[in-house]
Formats: sequence, structure tokens, C-alpha cells
Amino acid sequence: MDNKKLKVCVIGGGVIGLYLSWKLSELGHEVFVYDRKEEKDLGFKSCSTLVSERIRQFIPRIDDCLENIINSCDINFPKKTIRLNFSPKHLVLDRDKLIKILLDLNKKNNVKLCFGKELKEIPRGFDRVIGCDGAGSFVRKSLGLPNPNMRIGIQVFEEKKDNSCVTKTHLIPSGFTWEIPRGNFVEYGALGEQNEAKQSLDELLDIKDVKKRKYISALVPQGLIIPNNDKITLCGDAMGLTKPWSGGGLIWGLYAADMLIKSFPDFIEYKKQTEKFFNFKIIKGRIANKLVNLFGFYFPYVIPKEMTYDNDFPNFLIAFAGKK
Ligand SMILES: Cc1cc2nc3c(=O)[nH]c(=O)nc-3n(C[C@H](O)[C@H](O)[C@H](O)COP(=O)(O)OP(=O)(O)OC[C@H]3O[C@@H](n4cnc5c(N)ncnc54)[C@H](O)[C@@H]3O)c2cc1C
Repeated sequence: MDNKKLKVCVIGGGVIGLYLSWKLSELGHEVFVYDRKEEKDLGFKSCSTLVSERIRQFIPRIDDCLENIINSCDINFPKKTIRLNFSPKHLVLDRDKLIKILLDLNKKNNVKLCFGKELKEIPRGFDRVIGCDGAGSFVRKSLGLPNPNMRIGIQVFEEKKDNSCVTKTHLIPSGFTWEIPRGNFVEYGALGEQNEAKQSLDELLDIKDVKKRKYISALVPQGLIIPNNDKITLCGDAMGLTKPWSGGGLIWGLYAADMLIKSFPDFIEYKKQTEKFFNFKIIKGRIANKLVNLFGFYFPYVIPKEMTYDNDFPNFLIAFAGKK
């Protein structure tokens, strides 16, 4: 069975869907990708595409879409600012160009790209179906699975040159606001419950005196929802897989995609592997989030001013031990 070439349907042509279709086509499977968007619009989605350098382990030619390099993040609490030095460093990428790189790789491998078609039902006639259809996944709903927790991520861009290498965040009760230097733009954004995120972003934009405001937003899921099904599975935002502290989903989604490829076509094994790898990280991340908020707001003197931090797989104890 393992060496048999299968007919595979990937629903969703975001980063995770296109990565999976490319990799599965490399294994010789006949792969079809469906997306409701037209090809030219695939890159357009509300996403900062700020990722650690680990992205280079997955996708080639990353420098073609590099906008800026980020060394650290300042977290502003009312009475203290904490600097997190990213290790590995983070890259600000142009999402449109990233999608184009993945499309090229898919085209080279003759993946069948079926764009501009919204699917409402899980298609028949495939040996395997993978739902990479994002936070609102209809594949997840069709399988009768619950929704993960949802927050909203919202962004505004200001045309302003800024090549500095520090992002700035302010915590809000349900998430945080951010400021990312993107080279030719500065991005302002917020993650949180809908009204709170919009209100907090507006407050930040008022302080920064940003007049032109074109908001773009998308849902940010959090959890790990994966079917117990040997023919249909989920990956990326469709399974809710984002980091609890930042809402970032690209690196975790790519790790899950690699687990899927390694265990393919055994989706039950994939479920086992992802749960084993991510469940504890999610619980730890949620607890750490609460503790950082608690200490940052009420006992800021307990937290060191500067820490070195792996933003994909943090070890909170080591981060504290490495304080300066
Ligand atoms: C404001 C914001 C900022 C973010 N910043 C970061 C960041 O800096 N770093 C990071 O790692 N993550 C970030 N994220 C999260 C990141 O964007 C997601 O985790 C990532 O894009 C998920 O990729 P995906 O391929 O799983 O899903 P998506 O990119 O959502 O792709 C899903 C695709 O499925 C298609 N689709 C949906 N339904 C159907 C259907 N019925 N039929 C056919 N096609 C369908 C959609 O058109 C879409 O192209 C951010 C999110 C937001 C909202």
C-alpha cells in the first residue's frame, strides 16, 4: 500500500495546502488542489507572514520574498518593557511571492490546479482528501467536528520606510497589538476578540497618527481538531493549529504537513503523531500565556528585562534562565 501511487485531493491553496500538494506530488502521487480563489488572488490574505528562519527548511528561494529581518520583539506592559531576542531570527515575507514560489513548484510537478471553484462538498473519486481550507474549514464541518477557539487578526499598513529589526507589541486582555517594520511599510495589527482587537488597533493607530486606514482581517483559530478517519484529514488552520501565544500558524502548520507526508497515506498514524507532538505544546503555551500576562501586569519585577527565546518551540524555563 505504501508504495502505491494515489489520487489525492487537497482542498485549499494557501501555504499549507500548496506545500502539501508539492511534497505529495514529489512522492509520485497524482495531486489535485482546489481553491475558491483565482490563482492571481491566492496570495491575498490577512497574514503578517512573520516567520522564523525555520521556514527555509521547508520552502526554497525564501530570499526572493524577504522584506525584512527581525531580531527581537519588545513586549510592552504598563510598567515594564521586556525584550525577547528571537533565536532563530524572524523573517518578514511577502506572502504573495511566497505563494508564487509554491505555485511554481507545483506546476513543475504537474499538480492539477483547480482554482476559482468553491467546494461545498467533499469531492468523491479520490483515494485521500486533505482539508487545508483554513480557519472556517467546510471539510472540518462536513466531518461533524467542532470549531476550534477563534479570535480575529486585523491589519493596517502605512507607507513608511522602516528597516529596523524589532517588532513591538502591547498586550490586551484577549491577545495583543503589534507593529512590524516591513522595509517599505510599517504594519500595525491586533489579535483578539473581535471588538477588542478593532478598538485596540484603532487606539494604536491614533497614537501613531495613521490617517489612511484600510483594514484587512481574518479568523485565527486555536486548538487541534483532527478527524479519526483513514481517508480524509485536515492540516494547517483547518485543524486549528496556531501557536497559542502569537496566533502564528505557518511553522506549526508546516511541521504538521511534514508529519502528514511522512505517515502518508496512513491518516490515523498522522493523527497520533500530531497529537503526540502538539498537544502538550498547546497546553504549555496556553498556561505560559496566562502567566506572562499575570506577571507582566501585576508583578513585572519578577520578569527579566531581556530573554532569548525560540518563538516556535519555546522552553520557558531556559528563556528565564538565559536572562540578562
Ligand atoms: C492578521 C493575521 C496575521 C497573521 N500573521 C501571521 C504571522 O505573522 N506568522 C504566521 O506564522 N502566521 C500568521 N497568521 C496565521 C496564518 O495566516 C495562518 O496560520 C496560515 O495562513 C494558515 O495557512 P493555511 O494554508 O492553513 O490556510 P489559509 O491560508 O487560510 O488557506 C486556506 C485556503 O482555502 C481556501 N478555501 C477555503 N474554503 C474553501 C472552499 N470551500 N473551497 C475551496 N477553497 C477554499 C481559501 O481560499 C484559502 O486560499 C496570521 C493570521 C492573521 C489573520
